[in-house]
Parts: sequence; C-alpha cells; structure tokens
Amino acid sequence: MMPWSLKVRAGVGIVVVYTAYTAYVQYKTSHHIDKRTSRHQLSLDNPNAVLEDVGNNENRSWPSTRFGSLIVGGKFVNPFPEYRHQTLYEFIYCRLIEVFHFGGRGSLPKDPKELKSSLPLVKPDFDLLFRLSKDYSSTRLTGVLDAISQDSTASSKHVMEKIENSPNDLLTLTWLGQSCAFVQMGGMNILTDPLFGNNLVSNYIGPRRLVPSPCKLEELPKIDLVLVSHDHPDHLELDTVKRIGNSALWVVPTGVRHFLAKQGIYNVAELDWWQHMNIPSSITTEPTNLRLGSNINNGTKNEWEIVCTPAMHWSGRKLIDANNTLWCSFMILRGGKPIFFHAGDTGYSSDLFNGIRNYFGRDCYLAMLPCGAYKPRWHLKTQHIDPNEAVQVMKDLGARKMVGVHWGTFVLSDEHYLDPKITMERLAKEEKRPDDILTPEFGKTLVFDISDNEAIVQKSKRTLIRDGKSVFVE
Ligand SMILES: [Zn+2]
Repeated sequence: MMPWSLKVRAGVGIVVVYTAYTAYVQYKTSHHIDKRTSRHQLSLDNPNAVLEDVGNNENRSWPSTRFGSLIVGGKFVNPFPEYRHQTLYEFIYCRLIEVFHFGGRGSLPKDPKELKSSLPLVKPDFDLLFRLSKDYSSTRLTGVLDAISQDSTASSKHVMEKIENSPNDLLTLTWLGQSCAFVQMGGMNILTDPLFGNNLVSNYIGPRRLVPSPCKLEELPKIDLVLVSHDHPDHLELDTVKRIGNSALWVVPTGVRHFLAKQGIYNVAELDWWQHMNIPSSITTEPTNLRLGSNINNGTKNEWEIVCTPAMHWSGRKLIDANNTLWCSFMILRGGKPIFFHAGDTGYSSDLFNGIRNYFGRDCYLAMLPCGAYKPRWHLKTQHIDPNEAVQVMKDLGARKMVGVHWGTFVLSDEHYLDPKITMERLAKEEKRPDDILTPEFGKTLVFDISDNEAIVQKSKRTLIRDGKSVFVE
C-alpha cells in the first residue's frame, strides 16, 4: 500500500499537471483565435491576402477559415472569443452545489398530476406522418390515405391537396423531447439527436425524464437519416442507437463515428465543420448525386444536401473523454437554399450565427433552437443559449420561423422548468411574431409549407388541422 505522504504528493502532482495543462489549452486557444481574427480582418482589408489553412476547407471563405474546427492539446476546443474554457474544478464545484439543492432544482410541482398537466403529451399524427413518408404505399400503410381523406375540415383539405400534389413542399416537425424531433422533408424521415428513454444515466441514478416520450421509436415511420449534433447522453441515447442500427444513415460530427462503430454501426457519414454532403437519392424522393465536399451546391433545384456547421459547446459521455469528439449544428438545403437548421446545443456568438447566414448567402426557413438549461448564467452561458439569445440567433440566421426545444424534458439547470416556454411565448408577443416563434407541445406535428421560402411573408398564420392533431403553419 502506498503511504499517505506519497498519496498526498501524487495528488498534488496531478493537480499541478492538470492546472498547467488547462492553462496551456486556454493560452493556445486564445492565441489561435487572435491569429484567425487578425487574418480575417486582413482578408476584409485585402481580399487577396492568403488565408490560414483550416482543416480541409477548400473554398477558404469566411467564416469557414475563422471558425474552422480546432484541436489544442489533443482535444477539440471552441474557436470563439465568447467561449470561456471550463475546468474540472468548475465542473466539480457545480455538481456539489447541485447536490445541496436537495431536489429543489427546476421548482417542480410536488403533485405529479400538476406536472403532467403542465407538460401535455400529444400522440403524434401517425396517419399524416406515414402518408408523407416516401414508402407510404407499402401494404403496412393501407388505410392511411383513407384516414387522411376522411378528414374534412377546410384547412385539412388545403393540406390534403398539398400532400397529394406536391408533398415535397411540406416539412413536418414533431418534437419528442430535448432536441429529439421527427422531421420530414423531400420524402425523408429524419430523426434529430435521438432520445426516447426515461433516464440519462441509469434506471437508479441520474436525471429522470419529467414526462415520457410521446411515442416509441417503433411507432414512427422508418427513419432514413439520423442527425447527431454531439455525443452528450441527452442527444445520443445508446439504447436508441442500438435499435436503429444500420437501418438509417447516421450523420455525425468528427469523432462520433468511433462511438457508433463500437455498437456495430457503419452506415455513417462523419463531417467536419463546413463540410457538405449530398443526401443519397435512395433516401429522398428527389434525385441527387452523391458528393462530399465543401462547396455550396447551386446545382439541381431539388438536390438536398446537409452542411455540418459549428456550434459553441463541448462533448463527452464521461469526464475522461471530454472534447475527444466534435460538436456541431446542421443546415439542410434544397437546391442551395437553406431550409432547416438544427442547432444542437450552443452558446451565443454573434459572429458565428451571422457568419452562417453569410456563408449560405440566404435566410433559412426554419430553425430548431435550444432555449432551456441556461441557469446559472455564469456557468452555462457559454454552452446553452437562453430564450432571448435563441430569438437573436433566429434573427442572425434570418430564419422565417423557429421552434424552441431543449426544455421540459430533464431538469439539468436552475431555472423554473416552464421558464423557457413562458419566456419564448412572451418574446413571440413582444416581437409581434406569435406564429413564427413557436414553442411546441410534445408529440404535436407542426406542418410547414416550404414551397416559396424566399417570398416575403406579411403575416404567418397557424391553423389546427387533422381535427386538432396537427398544426399547419404558413
Ligand atoms: Zn450538450
């Protein structure tokens, strides 16, 4: 057995080495940010100036050079001046503070009925979701068309016509909790940041879901594509990973391929920030040529592509693997037009979100943005935006509409569990955009018309369709 004096010396040694390492990472990261910022300024002053080579970005245009992914000391870091490097000391301090909250976090009601009624669960409109899937005519789905046709309200008829004549002009989003949503466009069934279970760590310890998922994975139409923003357990659930397996194409940021390979999953496309990928024609109802690169696609009108875009966050499933893999957001485009932005988890950086809009050169149609898990601000500001910042991100991206997610699922922070929703609804009124800034209910399908996403819309409107099971937003 090691004597105590030796244990103390070993402990002090570890603390010294760790502190020196974090100081090095902090210094080196600031150095890179300064270098990139001054080169960016130089390129603004002189567009012919040689830009720094970051990763494999071929087009080397702003903001991909300034905000290319960055590795320091063997781990990914955030190349944003707004980010504050977080140490193990801060992590341990915050966990200790949480323990002393004695279950008071989130100000949850004592009565389970009150909690349930404050977070209503809606069964997804499966008839509509199956009907909009590419393979709806398969024998399994017989009767779905009839069920849709019998829905006779005037607004439903309007949507029915769209479904019949131009299904690719509709996008549906069904929020299932945290950042997990079932999204359909171009005949594709997309699942974002998969999560269906009730526990984050295990059945016995760790945060429990406030209300269960509105449906099981098996109840949904077959998933074609899974978008994973980062490998935190509330954005990439192991059980769902195993159940989907190789039946869907997984699109993940750099490093996450390794985690999936350990589960036997090889149907994976791994992207670095600013890398583009055309969506294979086997997945969409519209033709496309498979291509991986870093140029904006201005080709075929109906070509669908995914671009991995940056986010200000971190990664890791255990403490030891923190920042071994990259974190990201995603933009899905059709014919070069940005249609859908999945933010994952992120802090706020004005240059970053304005940069994303500049990069695509166009406003995007719909942004799914996190708006919960943001208090205390001193600790969480750099990793989670609050509702005010989410509205600002929407404006920076020029998004016509936004859906606020990442709240009401687990208590992971200090704000009241309904604060994100209440604040989003207040901001929607203040901005006079109640039908553009949306806080969804679990399981209720939002249907969007993306046919004229460049037209200037005077006023959006929201209509209940399918006997109130879904909402049509136009
Ligand atoms: Zn996260």
